Amino acid sequence: MKISENCLFCAIIAGKIPSTKVYEDEYVFAFRDINPQAPTHILVVPKEHIGSMDEVNSENSVFAAKIFEVIPKIAAQKGLANGYRVISNCGPDACQTVHHLHFHILGGTQLADRMA
Ligand code: AMP
Ligand code: ZN
Repeated sequence: MKISENCLFCAIIAGKIPSTKVYEDEYVFAFRDINPQAPTHILVVPKEHIGSMDEVNSENSVFAAKIFEVIPKIAAQKGLANGYRVISNCGPDACQTVHHLHFHILGGTQLADRMA
């Protein structure tokens, strides 16, 4: 499993920085966003360090596949039966601030109809 020194989310996955974990398996870690933008705001990340969507490739795409299997399970567990939004910010134009691939699950309210 590749991890990165000085990566915030690698440190969270390793338990070196505390988080409110909502899910963990061999491939995937999920925790509450520290600055929630909706009543439910969860970050779903691969346990391997992948910098962003731009770094998903045929060697590491199993992590992306596992994340997409887990997202509906977390949504159901958190009671998001009326819907939710999944976002991954990639690069400066998308305002990516943490350079470890992550998917935001946002829900628990009626979200804005525009995404940007
Ligand atoms: P992005 O802007 O898409 O890169 O999202 C990074 C997200 O990480 C933001 O929504 C932050 O609120 C969140 N975040 C930053 N530090 C932490 C932390 N220590 N624990 C949980 N979430 C964090
Ligand atoms: Zn990382």
